[in-house]
Formats: sequence, structure tokens, C-alpha cells
Amino acid sequence: MSTKDFLEKDYYKALGVSKTATQDEIKKAYRKLARKYHPDANKGDADSEERFKEISEAYDVLSDDKRRKEYDEARRLFGSGGFRGGQGGGFGFDLGDLFGQGQTAGGAAGERIGDLFGGIFNRGTGTRAGARRARRGADVETEVTLSFGEAMDGVTVPLRLTSEAACANCRGTGAKAGTVPRVCPSCEGTGQETRNLGSFGFSEPCRECRGRGLVVDDPCPTCHGSGRATGTRTIQARIPAGVADGQKIRLKGKGAPGESGGPAGDLYVTIKVTPHKVFGRSGDNLTLTVPVTFAEAALGAQIKVPTHRGMPVTLKIPEGTPNGRTFRVRGRGATRRDGTKGDLLVTIDVQVPQKIDDTTREALEKLRAVENGDALRSELLHQAKE
Ligand SMILES: [Zn+2]
Ligand SMILES: [Zn+2]
Repeated sequence: MSTKDFLEKDYYKALGVSKTATQDEIKKAYRKLARKYHPDANKGDADSEERFKEISEAYDVLSDDKRRKEYDEARRLFGSGGFRGGQGGGFGFDLGDLFGQGQTAGGAAGERIGDLFGGIFNRGTGTRAGARRARRGADVETEVTLSFGEAMDGVTVPLRLTSEAACANCRGTGAKAGTVPRVCPSCEGTGQETRNLGSFGFSEPCRECRGRGLVVDDPCPTCHGSGRATGTRTIQARIPAGVADGQKIRLKGKGAPGESGGPAGDLYVTIKVTPHKVFGRSGDNLTLTVPVTFAEAALGAQIKVPTHRGMPVTLKIPEGTPNGRTFRVRGRGATRRDGTKGDLLVTIDVQVPQKIDDTTREALEKLRAVENGDALRSELLHQAKE
């Protein structure tokens, strides 16, 4: 009687009794079914014969209180969903791995679940001689500093990455050059050892080979037998146009290499952008502050404003433009993901003349004579009294 049998077979169901059935009920159910499916009564019927065997096996276990207890315990521990556990234990992992049987019950679903727990279970149980399981490489994070122009235009930058990979010296086997690991004699390469608990056994990672299924006699001097190495590699990372400071971009498949044919992980690059002397960023837009004279703001003007890496454009300021007003120049901002561009936001900064020569003084005196500063402030003085 193997553990596999215990888990695969529902003896209660075979006899059509509940899990709390008494010995009397079990005996009654068995007798009734045994009469019905007895080979003498169903000559040559293979299905009946199979059924009779099932019933007998179920009765053998359930009629023996000690064996029934062990059976209940095994199913409680490893789930009662058949060979693949799940209902009892709360885990959905693949018992094919746990028991090192080299088969996966449940087909695609079993595979997927195996993947999901790959990180946890492959370490101890997933390795079988000659059939190491493919594992996805780790995601890697790094940071890169770009100039304002590089961020606007997009750039290809070399990135030096350090990540763990298969040791190049032994190609990940952990064995010294010229030697090969041998199949673990203790577990015969399954990576599992079976411990007996009562009359049923359960498996755990082999202590001799730590679940690898292989034993290394002469360890590789580079990795000391682990088969792993910290490698440095340089990749060319393409940074798209329009990235902003603090943005994180994902480069698919540029992370740590996979193991045993598994896919590479992803690379996440955090972008730092050094500030520009005159342009700022606001989302997809560029920002720019432009000084204008008092007369230009008051009378209106056509002024030239710079664009980033383009010809200056003419911006028309209407008569009576207040200080701090922002104007929009369409399509002169940063490149968006869809290839379109943001805008250039131009903020007016009205300047008060600092150096007053005779001509300027004369002009300003004339202006002062026609303007009435007291009238401008009279409402404020009035309201302040309330
Ligand atoms: Zn072993
Ligand atoms: Zn090595």
C-alpha cells in the first residue's frame, strides 16, 4: 500500500458510506456491494471485476481501525482531491513534485500550480536527475541618470548589471571541469526520500543531495559546488523618448537569465534626469518662464521664445497681459508613449526696469503723470476700514 494509493483512492466513496460511518455501516455496505460485483455473479465482466477489487481494498483499510485512522490522517494532511492535493491542506501544490513520482496529475493545471510555487518547492523537491526544472530568471532593478536632452530624445545607454546566474566554469552543474555529478545513490536521482509513518510513507527532500538528485564529488573551484555564480554583464538599454525624472521603465527579458531553459526576468530602470537650465517638465509638457518688459505686457507684443532642440517660435502677447500669465505653444513638449507630443507652457514674467537712464526716466515720468496711483489703491484703503 503506497501513499499514492491512499491519496488517489476514496475508500469511503468506493463503499458509498460517509466519513463518519460506523464499522457496522461499513460492513453492511461492503457485503451488499461485494454480492453485486462478485466475479462469480458477473462472469467475464472486467468493469465489475475492477469494482470488486476496489470495494475489497476499501474494506480492507476501513474495517481495520488502525489503518482507517492512518488513511484519514494521510488524506487530512495531503488533501483528499486525489493525487493532486488542495482541498485538505489549503495549499494547491502539485503532489507529483512532493512525491517525486515524475508525473503530473491534473495536466495543465498541475503545471501551472507547479510554476506558481516554483520558488518555494523547486528548491527542495523539483529537481530530478537529468530533468532540472526550467526556472524564470529574477527581476533586476537599476538606476540610470540622463541629461535633460537624452530624456527628451530617447537614448541607448550601456548598463552594467550584476546578477546571479549559472556558474560559467561548470555550466551550473557544480562539478569540477572534467567531472560530472553522479546520480544520488540515496534517492536514485529523485531528490526525495521516503519516511515511513505507520504503514504509509511520505516524501521529503533527500538529505544526501539536498533534493538536487545529484551528488558532486569534486566541486567546481569557482562556485564551490553550488553551480551558481555572480556575473557582471553589460546590456544596451533603449530608453524611449520623453521619459521623466523618477519614472520607472520595464525592459522585458533584460533581467537575470533563466535557469535550465527558463525565460529571463525583467529589468526595471529608475530614471533620473538632470535639470535643464531653462526648461522644466510638467507631465508631458515643458515649462518655460520668459521675461517681458512692462510696456510689452501692457501694449501687447510679438515675442520670440525658444523651444527645446527646435527653432524659436513667435508668441503673440495680447494687450494688457498680467504678470504670471501662461501661454500654450502646442506640440513643443515631451514625446508621449503614443508618439504625439505635449505642449510648451510659457509663463510671462514682467520685469521692472532696474537701470534707469535719462530717456527711460523721461518716458516713465510721462506715464506716471497720466496714471493715477492713488485712485488705484483707494478701494483697498476703503475696504481695509471695514
Ligand atoms: Zn538524494
Ligand atoms: Zn561552478
